[in-house]
Amino acid sequence: MLRLLLLLLSLTDQRAILTEFSDFLAIPNLASDAPNIARNAAAIQAMFEKRGVKTKLLTLDNAPPIVIVDVPSRGATRTIAFYAHYDGQPVDPKQWQTPPWRPVMRDAAGNDVDWRNATTLDPEWRLYARSSGDDKAPIIAMAAALDALRKSGHAPNVNLRFVFEGEEEAGSPHLGDYLAKYPDVLRPDAWILCDGPVQQSRRMQLVFGARGVVDAELTVYGPAKGLHDGHYGNWVPNPIIRLTHLIDSMRDETGRILIAHFYDEVKPSSAAEHDAIAKMPPVESDLKREFGIASTESENLNQSLLLPALNVRGIQSGHIGAQASNTIQTEATASLDFRVVPAETPESIKKLVEQHIESQGYTIIRTTPDAATRLAHPKIAKLTWGAGYPPARTSLDLPLSQQIAALMTTAGHPPVRVPTLGGSIPMYLFQQPSNTPVLILPIANHDDNQHAANENIRLQNLWDGIDVYVALFEGLN
Ligand SMILES: [Zn+2]
Repeated sequence: MLRLLLLLLSLTDQRAILTEFSDFLAIPNLASDAPNIARNAAAIQAMFEKRGVKTKLLTLDNAPPIVIVDVPSRGATRTIAFYAHYDGQPVDPKQWQTPPWRPVMRDAAGNDVDWRNATTLDPEWRLYARSSGDDKAPIIAMAAALDALRKSGHAPNVNLRFVFEGEEEAGSPHLGDYLAKYPDVLRPDAWILCDGPVQQSRRMQLVFGARGVVDAELTVYGPAKGLHDGHYGNWVPNPIIRLTHLIDSMRDETGRILIAHFYDEVKPSSAAEHDAIAKMPPVESDLKREFGIASTESENLNQSLLLPALNVRGIQSGHIGAQASNTIQTEATASLDFRVVPAETPESIKKLVEQHIESQGYTIIRTTPDAATRLAHPKIAKLTWGAGYPPARTSLDLPLSQQIAALMTTAGHPPVRVPTLGGSIPMYLFQQPSNTPVLILPIANHDDNQHAANENIRLQNLWDGIDVYVALFEGLN
């Protein structure tokens, strides 16, 4: 029977953690700042090597290194990887109360506190610095969790591997290349991505997926030159009307996509996903008030995120108000994005969208039509696609998924289980090519000013994060 270590950090422990963390936060960490990125990577290596664990750097030309920390367990056959990133978002120092890379502790009222000499550390105090929440907190918390585990005399039952990326905030441009170049290191049995914030309710969350995304620009055409709509309306096609009808043919007002076969590939949601959603704190009525909307397209927000979506990001043609003119415009453009869910991919839905547009009588082109093209086809749609990427989803029913939730619960942090993020992050990279389980377990406070000025970590979130890592390092098997 598993007996979990009850974590009690003494004041001395807490001070030591914060001292080490402050030094780490004092190193500027823009992905493009190669010398400082190298200092960060070296600081992480030193942080773990001083604890007697092996580290190494994975490198690619002109890319920040990935720092690998290996904590092997004798006789273990499984390796669980914990991911975080050590780079941070760009800063505008003018907007910061104090310089972004000079860590400062403040109390809940916003007053600076001298934490180094304080006799207690209030868990509501916050440490302010770039990346204090996003995403250096998990790195120091993992190091502190190793210490706590050692002190308890317990040891992990699985091989632990920490993977620290240095250009997440720059869009992870080399992550795919790294995964391809170092499959032996970067294909563990499972990934736990430690990034992002906990729930707004301050409860921890465990996220099992993210929708994929692909965007498109769609232009339809009217006459080659703008025309008087009194002289020519009802005879010359109006591109704005064509575009709105085309969009109407693709999606209804409940969010249902009307494109043939669009749901064929959508995997039905599982009983566990429904159960998790039913247990999520309801947010709908608060959000309706906040957003000033009396009705919604569908009933349950999180339920709707399990489905694909077609969003119209913008429409452009002609003018309104004082600039309006009685003109039949030459063209109208819509910017669209599709959120996709397993097992759809950008490629699979592109085909369906194009078939649909053609079924509405359009000829699809990729560049602006010349006169001959205009005369050759009754209806023309110029369609250009962004690259996009696929969705990822890990089953809530996997033994690992259940075990992580159970360990967090035993450690006093029962997670809100979130089957999928509505937004898109490239989780699929970690999941490929063999459907490796990937979960997201954030520790930072939701109000940590992530990506903005005055980023901070609330001390209780740091302590809770250490708690949960200890529970996982000890209990995963
Ligand atoms: Zn992050």
